[in-house]
Amino acid sequence: MSLFRPNIDKMQGYVPGEQPREKDWIKLNTNENPYSHSPRVAEAIEKAARSRLNIYPDPLVRAFSEEAAKQFNVDPDWILPANGSDENLTILVRSFVDTNEVISYAYPSYVLYESLAEIQGCECQRLLLNSDWSWDLDRVRPEIERTKLLFVPNPNSPSGTLWDDATLTSLIPPNGIMVLDEAYGDFRSMRDKGGILKGEHGSRIVITRTLSKSYSLAGIRFGFAVAHPDLIAGMRKVKDSYNCNTLSIAAATAALMDQEWMLKNVKQIQLTRERLTLALRLLGFEVQDSETNFVWATHPDRNHEELYQELKARRILVRYMKFPGTITGLLTGLRITVGTDAEIDTFLEKLKEIL
Ligand SMILES: *Cc1c(COP(=O)(O)O)cnc(C)c1O
Repeated sequence: MSLFRPNIDKMQGYVPGEQPREKDWIKLNTNENPYSHSPRVAEAIEKAARSRLNIYPDPLVRAFSEEAAKQFNVDPDWILPANGSDENLTILVRSFVDTNEVISYAYPSYVLYESLAEIQGCECQRLLLNSDWSWDLDRVRPEIERTKLLFVPNPNSPSGTLWDDATLTSLIPPNGIMVLDEAYGDFRSMRDKGGILKGEHGSRIVITRTLSKSYSLAGIRFGFAVAHPDLIAGMRKVKDSYNCNTLSIAAATAALMDQEWMLKNVKQIQLTRERLTLALRLLGFEVQDSETNFVWATHPDRNHEELYQELKARRILVRYMKFPGTITGLLTGLRITVGTDAEIDTFLEKLKEIL
């Protein structure tokens, strides 16, 4: 007999992308940044390592919050730092959703939202996107009306596509909160910093950001939420007192202060992304125009899982994705992270061999 709560027994658990420990893999499967972090980050960590680690870190993480607030043109009480953006997603679920309430999310998108709902023990609705990744507002409206917490990644994963502010605003649940998961916000061609929060229903929107992708700091685990101070104050009651540690706070603050470094890497990734997109199209793939550091590619007559396996046999990892129950039934495809130019050249070469 299991002692776990029944919903934990029932759930599968989120399966993150493979992380081989050997260095000779070309890893294009978890949207990490192929370029190194700012040198200022290492300096800040070294300095922090020599500081007093016997005392707890600042529970309000003020040094970081002030820097993030400057960037979003808000006051620091609009910022909630966390141990990775995923922690903020957990805090949001614990803050807003009772077991008799409903979580909804854009589908296909980031399936972690579904695991969080399973842990919480609440209902989770998939709001089906059209096959071109647009919204059918009339179709989803009844589901949105019964939603307490709505997750919308923007730009979306795995498609890499972006929705405009007017569309997003029309999705806000009349009796709930909309979370805009902007994990890839820095890769957009038009970089917006929280403009939507200033709109009429802005006090019911939470934006989440991460330093894992654009700032090349997936190993540090740092993210932050931006929202009206009333929402942030409530979420603060739910978080662990010391959810960010002294070393990661120093690293994340230094990273944010070196915008030039981040933007230079983003620019390079955008250039490589355009080249990758064109090359895949020439090989017969359908590829979405991406606003992120990955592309979504489907092939009209090749088996995606086999392509993934063939690449893996050549020590190249991409993400094979499988979404049952989309608007057109089962959707499969390959999500390919934009690596360095050399990595993408090798990837394309091997892919040509396989095809
Ligand atoms: C990568 C990613 C996250 C997680 O970010 P962390 O800060 O590494 O936890 C959240 N949402 C989406 C859509 C992501 O792609």
